Formats: sequence, structure tokens, C-alpha cells
Amino acid sequence: DLTDIATPVAMAIQAAGGPGLPRASGLADDRFAHDGQITKRPVRALTLSALAPRPGELLWDIGGGSGSISVEWALAAPGARAIAIEPRADRAATIRANAESFGLSHRIEVIEGAAPEALAALPAPDCVFVGGGGSQALLEPLWTTLRPGTRLVANAVTLETEALLTQWHGQQGGSLIRVELSEAAPLGRMRGWTRARPVTQWSVIR
Ligand code: SAH
Repeated sequence: DLTDIATPVAMAIQAAGGPGLPRASGLADDRFAHDGQITKRPVRALTLSALAPRPGELLWDIGGGSGSISVEWALAAPGARAIAIEPRADRAATIRANAESFGLSHRIEVIEGAAPEALAALPAPDCVFVGGGGSQALLEPLWTTLRPGTRLVANAVTLETEALLTQWHGQQGGSLIRVELSEAAPLGRMRGWTRARPVTQWSVIR
């Protein structure tokens, strides 16, 4: 359905005041309203590649934050839908605002609540992203309820969550990657590499 793609693209162009919306995942961070808690552009691009959205699929975006993952999921494939789960009221409002500014309100639903409790009544997903709230208390019930074939991607920045994902990768397989990115920044009158915290990402098919 072409109008389904054309409308959000046109609205995003208007919202950004720029020459157009790039087709590749990993949009500039400043395309989204956020409070600093946002999956940064390069890691978001890698995350969308791992999530691998297909037309009409449903994503659970656990720890929605700004909603950048839900937005890029919905932009990437016609009719792709996302449910963002986010316990903070201010961030839930930001997710709704970002969905709106990309013209995607009809394909992104926001649940204000914490996983795993908030997941109980939701329709079964094709894919799940854990961008926040990653813990044994989440992964255990998630794993037992997901339909076989569901894709799961989890990102970790803390040692505790990294240890958890390392353990689950050992038990369930899939792929475990660690992303260490640096960006050039001023260092006196010269430049040096400023390191971002490493992000560990586990991807697996249930
Ligand atoms: N991927 C997001 C950033 C996620 S930051 C983006 O690109 O914008 C992690 C988020 O997880 C925070 O907003 C935090 O409030 C949320 N969170 C923490 N515990 C949670 C839980 N149990 N269930 C759902 N969300 C949770």
C-alpha cells in the first residue's frame, strides 16, 4: 500500500524541514524528541538490521524510551506495527509525539507500564526488542510465552545485563555481538576518539 509509506515520509520531511527522509535505518538522533535515553544512531542501525522488519509484522519494543526503534521499525516495512512498552509517563508521551510527527500513530501503540506485567494482554508479536528492563525476571516468562519462530533481540549496556545475555546465549544459541564505537571530538586544538559505552546485543529465534 503506497499511501501507507508515502504519508509518513511526506510528514517526516515536513517535520524535519529537510530535503527528505533517508531510506536506510539509523536516522539522525535529532529527528526524534528525546531526553538522552535513545538508542544512538549507529547502534540503532545495527539493531534494526537484527530486528529485520518485514511487511505487516508486529514488534514489541520493551523499554520504548523515545520510541526511535518503534518508529524505524514502522518506517522500514509497509504495514509493520509496533507496541512500545514504557513505564515512565513522560517517555510514553514522547513516544506518542514521535509516532505522531512521523505520521505513524496508527501503527505504533504505547503501553504505559513495565514488562513483564504489561505484556500479559498483548497480541503475540513476530519480533521482540528488549532495550530496557532486561532481567532474568523478564527473559524467563518472555521465553516461555513467545511462539516458536519469534525473533528476539536484546541490547545491554550494564555488566549485569551483559552477563545475563551471555548466559542466555550459552543456553539458547543465536548470535552475541559487542559493539564498541568511538567518535572524533575536540581534544585541545586537535581531535581524539571519544568512546561510547560498549553495547552487547543478543539475537535469537525462539
Ligand atoms: N530504545 C530506546 C531507549 C531505551 S532506554 C530509544 O531508542 O529511545 C530504556 C528504557 O527502558 C527507559 O525508558 C526505561 O524507562 C525503560 N524500562 C526500564 N525498565 C523497564 C521495564 N521493566 N519494562 C519496560 N520498560 C522499562
